[in-house]
Amino acid sequence: MKILKFGGSSVGSPASIKEVMQIIRDARQHDEVHVVVSAFQGVTDQLLLMAAKAAGGTLGYVDAMQAMEERHIDAIKQLVPVKTQSEIIAQFKFTFNELEDLLHGVYLVREASPRTLDVIVSFGERCSAYIVASALSASGIPAGFADARQVIQTDNQFGNARVQYEVTYAKIREYLQQRPGLVHIFTGFIAATELGETTTLGRGGSDFTASIIGAALDAEEIQIWTDVDGVLTADPRKVTRAFPLSQMTYEEAMEMSHFGAKVIYPPTMQPAMLKDIPLRIKNTFNPAATGTMIGRDPGEMMAPIKGISSISSIALIRISGPGMVGVSGVAGRIFETLAHASINVILITQASSEHSVCLAVLPEQAQKAKSSIEEAFKHELRDGFINEVFIETDLCIIAVVGEHMRQTPGIAGRVFQRLGDNGINIVAIAQGSSELNISVVIDKKNEAKALNVLHDAFFLSGLKTVNLYLVGMGLIGSMFLDMLSAQQQILKEQYAIDLRLVGVANSKKMRIRATGIPFDQAKTELLAAIEASNMTTYIDQMRQLNLPNSVFVDCTATDHVPQFYPEILRSSVAVVTPNKMANAADMAFYESLRTIARRYNTSFQYETNVGAGLPIINTLRLMVTTGDQIHKIEGVLSGTLSFLFNTYDGERPFSALLREAREMGYTEPDPRDDLNGHDMGRKLLILAREAGYRLEFADLKIENLVPVAARKAPTVEEFFRILEEYDATFEQRYREAKAQGKVLRYIARFEDGQGVVELAAVDQEHPFYTLSNTDNIVAFTSNHYQTRPMVIKGPGAGAQVTAGGVISDVLRVAQSVR
Ligand code: ADP
Ligand code: ASP
Ligand code: MG
Repeated sequence: MKILKFGGSSVGSPASIKEVMQIIRDARQHDEVHVVVSAFQGVTDQLLLMAAKAAGGTLGYVDAMQAMEERHIDAIKQLVPVKTQSEIIAQFKFTFNELEDLLHGVYLVREASPRTLDVIVSFGERCSAYIVASALSASGIPAGFADARQVIQTDNQFGNARVQYEVTYAKIREYLQQRPGLVHIFTGFIAATELGETTTLGRGGSDFTASIIGAALDAEEIQIWTDVDGVLTADPRKVTRAFPLSQMTYEEAMEMSHFGAKVIYPPTMQPAMLKDIPLRIKNTFNPAATGTMIGRDPGEMMAPIKGISSISSIALIRISGPGMVGVSGVAGRIFETLAHASINVILITQASSEHSVCLAVLPEQAQKAKSSIEEAFKHELRDGFINEVFIETDLCIIAVVGEHMRQTPGIAGRVFQRLGDNGINIVAIAQGSSELNISVVIDKKNEAKALNVLHDAFFLSGLKTVNLYLVGMGLIGSMFLDMLSAQQQILKEQYAIDLRLVGVANSKKMRIRATGIPFDQAKTELLAAIEASNMTTYIDQMRQLNLPNSVFVDCTATDHVPQFYPEILRSSVAVVTPNKMANAADMAFYESLRTIARRYNTSFQYETNVGAGLPIINTLRLMVTTGDQIHKIEGVLSGTLSFLFNTYDGERPFSALLREAREMGYTEPDPRDDLNGHDMGRKLLILAREAGYRLEFADLKIENLVPVAARKAPTVEEFFRILEEYDATFEQRYREAKAQGKVLRYIARFEDGQGVVELAAVDQEHPFYTLSNTDNIVAFTSNHYQTRPMVIKGPGAGAQVTAGGVISDVLRVAQSVR
């Protein structure tokens, strides 16, 4: 014999009830089958709402009630042939009238007690079971409507009644014996006291009903049919990558559901477990899927843990005081008090050093918990042995569950590490003595982030999802997206890094999509976006989404976006950027970025600030961290200026060469931005700071190659005209150098605490002598590189090498998170 239970989601519409009927028909081919059904989807909630409205004295409940009646009658019309409809509808209306009377009564007395509420909600299951039974009978399956109140007996704790098993089991067996040959369609969720008063088994209780009936009848299997493929590794609404588990133990299922996995109601496991009856979770809408088998066997070990679940909203009650130390029985008294007040304690932690006990309860019970405890301990409170009870709200619980945790050391460490890496602070920790679960209390706003981070860490063999927020869609930004689009699959398969673009913005528009924007569609999506660009909102939305491993990529060249770096880093979001403005700003800002990144356990990467994709900054950083000391930094740090002086031969006028370079796109639109040396100055400043020196931009001595007379020229053309007058000066400097066997190079140099950018002549011995094309070069002289400097040379400009460098930085961030 098998018991099949169909949840509200399986009986949400006539179409799904047809699926249910087919599943029952198939099951009957092989086994004797009995069925438990829940109320139609949403009905229990609606009934409670109607009762609340009626009790509040508003007539709003009437419309809702009529809509509900219509929904049920419509189902009958669609599921039952016309000739039998009227009789079934008549019987149905008879039942429904009773509900109308009851609600009217509530409206009149303006009060709905738990006892009344149980009667009101019982209509949900009574209606659905009646309709399913009628539809089955009409389709030729001998089925009988079975009101569970006739068989399941409980105490009178309305809303959450306790089952009296012995009588119940006997009644169930007797009920079936007296009515052989039928498929019984039991109402889930509802029961009755010895006196026949209607009770309920707690929200989600239909699963429990199925288990009770299965245990009473020694069924071979109890099947829970719902709308997902089984128990998943996490709640699929919060973790998109969650996947179904093929097997788990009763204890694991109990822990998962106790900590929020709604797919099965926690008490369900008890009756089945005592009789060793397997519970199988199946999907009504995908019957071919094997589902999850819950039994004695934990199944194969795929990961060190089984699942992760959460309770989205809890309050923490903290009881502390000197009177808590060494006084045995205090904890006992607290729990007794709370039990007496019908307060469900979800989690307990006790910190011996702090003389305190922490309890997690549902937020709506927090005040009551506080007042009951304060009442029970009023003498201790008065005498100062216990402090005022403290309530903390806006918290949630994340629980990591699994049998194998017992044998695997270090699970807790991994949990804490991952949460810490993502800037998630842990408020309290509890590990069940069974070592079947580790629960942490964290800020409510971090719930989804924590679930996803832990899910990736434990189930996806280290696959890391990295969420990108891009700003700036110029040459570099666009190239960055193009390159990622091509690399994405390889990064995922070979490096276990899953890069997702969650946000894009340029100076005009912005777009954020939590599920990710395909890299090759980012431009079109941004064009089509309606939201005007605004950094504050962009960052706010990013913070709201609170996705794990988030990286903010600034591909702009403005100094506007860098102003937001501090608050971005403070949200534990890493910053990656080719934009030099932040690192070239004043020293206080420079240092604050590093302090914040460290404090919030996140990362700030800017390798492309100097020399595009060349590994300059990271090499320097490595030298410094391994204890080397940098004495001198020398470099040609601009592709444009490198080209100009590598090419200039004194024959063609300097201004003509510059014009040509501009036409080839080698210079800024206004070449004065290259020639003034500021950009190289900034790069030198960044390198010097990286080497450990405290320096401001104003401390640099920069030789501006733009003649004073040309600096204010209103147009570029005008500038060129004035520059021509100085061609002779450039030529003269060239010839002087040449006469000494030297060449001209525009060099940035930091030595003896002084930074200089100037046009200098270098001889054949100098590493810059042979520089060619647009190459950048930098030489570091240090303790370890005294006689010959460490030299890094290569193409140091261009969208492709820069975007490549930005990607390396993103990967560096990805690899630093565990
Ligand atoms: P029913 O109406 O069939 O009783 P429920 O809504 O009570 O269905 O439970 C099924 C829902 O539980 C799923 O749709 C899913 O969103 C949610 N759920 C939460 N956690 C889990 C989990 N770990 N595995 C599967 N489903 C889960
Ligand atoms: N209908 C009840 C509820 O919504 C019982 C159940 O669905 O299991 O809580
Ligand atoms: Mg349910």
